[in-house]
Amino acid sequence: MFYIVSTPIGNLKDITIRALEVLKEVDLIAAEDTRQTRKLTQHYGINTPLTSYFEHNKVKKGDFLLSLLKQGQKIALVSDAGTPGISDPGYHIINLAIQNNIPITAIPGPTALITALSLSGMPTHKFIFEGFLSPKQAARRKRLQELSGEQRTIILYESPHRIKKCLHDISEILNDPLVVCARELTKKFEEIKREKASALIEHFSKTLPRGEFVLILNLCP
Ligand code: SAM
Repeated sequence: MFYIVSTPIGNLKDITIRALEVLKEVDLIAAEDTRQTRKLTQHYGINTPLTSYFEHNKVKKGDFLLSLLKQGQKIALVSDAGTPGISDPGYHIINLAIQNNIPITAIPGPTALITALSLSGMPTHKFIFEGFLSPKQAARRKRLQELSGEQRTIILYESPHRIKKCLHDISEILNDPLVVCARELTKKFEEIKREKASALIEHFSKTLPRGEFVLILNLCP
């Protein structure tokens, strides 16, 4: 059995009882960042062996993990944080397992996009998740242009290094919309700002952007 296990996006207490049981019972945990996952397993007294599975070894390691699954081993996949497969390399091995008829199940839990959406105050009945926009400015601007007629709430992930550039393009191309900026969700310095993109740029010009960010916007308020 292959288990897709969601883990906390910050606060170690945000883990389900079932996730802890599965992480304890499996033969191996395939983790995007073993150091990060070790903090979780140590916290909960889980001694299951960990192996790394990340962007740059996903093909070779994916094949290896598949061979173990075919031998009948029970493996849990966890990402750096949140739900595996959401803006991380999980998709590759999940798809591989399905194509090889490995029984698969998910242990649901936190994901940053839904956590941010649920407290954003933006319309939640229809939304689209764009993940990370391109780090290349031309491609990023082109995608934003394509999104300019979007009626659904738009959810983006962004890194602290690019947040100002991204907000700058959002402000220019999407007519300076209201943006909910959710930073460090579930962590000690959690902060939610609901301001126009231009005001957020001004804020991050004075205060260095730190941590992890989700941006949420809706172009037809
Ligand atoms: N698999 C994860 C999930 O389910 O949300 C996402 C992994 S992706 C590589 C990492 C990005 O998710 C970060 O750059 C940030 O945009 C977002 N993210 C993850 N944890 C977050 C948090 N605690 N607060 C705000 N954003 C977060």
